[in-house]
Amino acid sequence: MAYLTLKNINKIYPNGFHAVHDFNLEIERGEFIVFVGPSGCGKSTTLRMIAGLENISKGDFYIDGVRANDKGPRERQIAMVFQSYALYPHMSVYDNLAFGLTLQGVDEDVIEERVMKTAKILGLTEYLDRKPRALSGGQRQRVAVGRAIIRKVGVFLMDEPLSNLDAKQRVTMRSEITQIHRETKATTIYVTHDQTEAMTMADRIVVMKDGYIQQVGTPYELYFNPVNLFVAGFIGEPPMNFVPTTVNGGKATVGNNMLDLSHVLSGEKLAQYEGKEVVLGFRPEGIELGEKKDAYNVDCFVELTELLGDNTNVYVNIGKDRAILKVDPHDTPSTDVDIRFSIAYDNVYVFDKETEHVITDPKRK
Ligand code: ATP
Repeated sequence: MAYLTLKNINKIYPNGFHAVHDFNLEIERGEFIVFVGPSGCGKSTTLRMIAGLENISKGDFYIDGVRANDKGPRERQIAMVFQSYALYPHMSVYDNLAFGLTLQGVDEDVIEERVMKTAKILGLTEYLDRKPRALSGGQRQRVAVGRAIIRKVGVFLMDEPLSNLDAKQRVTMRSEITQIHRETKATTIYVTHDQTEAMTMADRIVVMKDGYIQQVGTPYELYFNPVNLFVAGFIGEPPMNFVPTTVNGGKATVGNNMLDLSHVLSGEKLAQYEGKEVVLGFRPEGIELGEKKDAYNVDCFVELTELLGDNTNVYVNIGKDRAILKVDPHDTPSTDVDIRFSIAYDNVYVFDKETEHVITDPKRK
């Protein structure tokens, strides 16, 4: 059995709201798991059930093979870092780090050794005498992380720990947390609504929507093989472009262009979807400007370009649909002109409009 097992976990709040539906997940020791999804999708609720701060309405939760539904938060040997990293303002960094261990009655010299080691991992050694108010947001965040890792628990939970930091600090802390995880190898569950954090930090990502898991996979799997429209649109920045169309004689109309779908769908699928509505998807970075052989060629009208430095986002109209193309800044087209771009067949996804499931084969193994 995996280290943490969540089996058909449900949360129904006392007011009757069903916040989490049949959540199933196995987490191996040492994994860095990220729960990601829009606000209200049930990420924090699931995390709080794992921490023991919220009871589990239905289902079973196991830690190391032992059912833990009825265990209190302390018994679970889980440490949690919250959005607001409430440090004790009147205590020094040293005392903030030591506090939990002092409460547990750990020997002074053991505490000192662990504080020094934790401070070293987190780059806090020179700030140990300072009070939290004399630290930057990022440094305070590190103290909050330090308070959790110093306890040497089996599982480490983090609920949007970077949300109070500015954009630059977030990028720095992101890699610091990844580094800390590499050093401590603590099993970690990290909650965020930010797909970039999920993609850059996770061993595996759990994408949630409306209380349901949509897909579980490595960042690579989710990016290349999204199972449905929601995951395809949520993972990746700018998001995947979607063009609704209808399968007609094995072809799809996209703006002025007729695309032969036999390049991306099997004969069987094509027959099954004949006359039905589908959605074509392609990533902004999955295109090339200009026409190409053995690829889909699409005409569009350039509305706006946004030079970002390392690339340009080109906002285009394809018939009545809008899309974003990510291009080399040196190739930035003029606005208000018609251009043509190509999409390699391998970069095209087709979704069932009704079920929203992907119907093209997985792109990468
Ligand atoms: P966010 O990113 O905004 O924190 P989340 O994905 O973590 O969102 P949760 O906090 O888990 O979402 O909430 C899931 C749903 O459960 C939301 O619709 C929320 O309004 C609802 N909810 C949360 N706590 C309660 C409660 N105590 N009683 C009733 N409903 C609740």
